[in-house]
Amino acid sequence: MFDSVYGNERLIKHLKNTVSTGNIGHCYLFHGEKGLGKRTVAKEFAMAIMCQAPDRPCQRCSDCVRIMREDHPDVHFVQHAKAVFSVDDIRDGLNREIVNRPISGSRRIFILDDAELLNTQAQNAMLKTIEEPPEYATIMLLSDNRDALLPTVLSRCVELSLEPLRDSQVKRALRGEDEQLQEAAVRHGGGNIGRAKRYLEDEAYREWVDTLGKILRALPDSDIVQLRRAAASIGTDKDRLIEMLSQMQRWFSGLMKTKALGEGPDIGCATEYSYEDFPRIFAAIENFSTRMKVNVNAELSLLLLLQEACPARN
Ligand SMILES: [Zn+2]
Repeated sequence: MFDSVYGNERLIKHLKNTVSTGNIGHCYLFHGEKGLGKRTVAKEFAMAIMCQAPDRPCQRCSDCVRIMREDHPDVHFVQHAKAVFSVDDIRDGLNREIVNRPISGSRRIFILDDAELLNTQAQNAMLKTIEEPPEYATIMLLSDNRDALLPTVLSRCVELSLEPLRDSQVKRALRGEDEQLQEAAVRHGGGNIGRAKRYLEDEAYREWVDTLGKILRALPDSDIVQLRRAAASIGTDKDRLIEMLSQMQRWFSGLMKTKALGEGPDIGCATEYSYEDFPRIFAAIENFSTRMKVNVNAELSLLLLLQEACPARN
């Protein structure tokens, strides 16, 4: 049961309990960083609700298989037509659809992934539905940013958060021949299976990550010319920049720990920084993330960020 979900023992225990008591809620919010497996958990939960086998979800019956393939007639994935969810997406995909009774079983499930892309009007449009859905319906919102949801939406959801895994758990989830590459993927994943898998499987992504790693390692010795070159090689693609911020965050957290312990593979780099540098760098990362949302000149902001991320020279 819940075999394809790694770690998150408390969450799984809660869901198993919910299924075995039959006390299934009307609206759930699964939240946590991208790559932690929210969609997998939601599908397993849906399977557990729909499956008729004694040890559910059995992963073999037609309900389970169809949910896995995302073509079950009573398990809907609410889609957005454009970059964000609009009022129309919610009206057509959820509000109008949810009043139809189940086709094959006794329940209907609506899964809405990337719920952070619901604009305010769309969220308001779904309020009444998530407050009083038909008794046969369960709605699952999935999001990597719960702060993007209105308090009125949050208050109607059972919130469940997915946590990063231990390295040993990530390692078990990865398949591959190359031991060294696998180790690097586990390190890069930092408890996130999705990120580790992507590193293992997507060569272009891996090259970009490794380039960024080299840039971060070289910061203490970089002058402005090298920083400009570094900024140019990172680029201004928004998804990549989000990924970069997360990698920087993890790099500097690790570096701070290495400095405190006085040992580790990056001790040479860590000693170049003083303890006063770290709060400034974390603030700069936060600041860049905020500026990205208002679409300022990414190239210039990136250069400023890299400058801030160098050790302060007296
Ligand atoms: Zn089944």
